[in-house]
Amino acid sequence: MSSDTPTNRAQSLEPWFLELLACPACEHHFPLTLTENRDALLCKCGRYSYPIRDGIPVLLIDEATEIDSHARPEQVKS
Ligand SMILES: [Zn+2]
Repeated sequence: MSSDTPTNRAQSLEPWFLELLACPACEHHFPLTLTENRDALLCKCGRYSYPIRDGIPVLLIDEATEIDSHARPEQVKS
């Protein structure tokens, strides 16, 4: 499988694609932010971080890392 290159992985994580994704824990569908290492997505709610495996974001609460269990979407100010 020579098609699994970093370039191909990056193509699946372009801004327009990230905008389509949403934190499954949030009712308000905040946009997700790619980390500097491009290995995880952070929800704007500040509560969850979602892993990216083989270039594919895993938007499952069971797979998410809870960053701040006290974060509440209602407290987020844009
Ligand atoms: Zn969230």
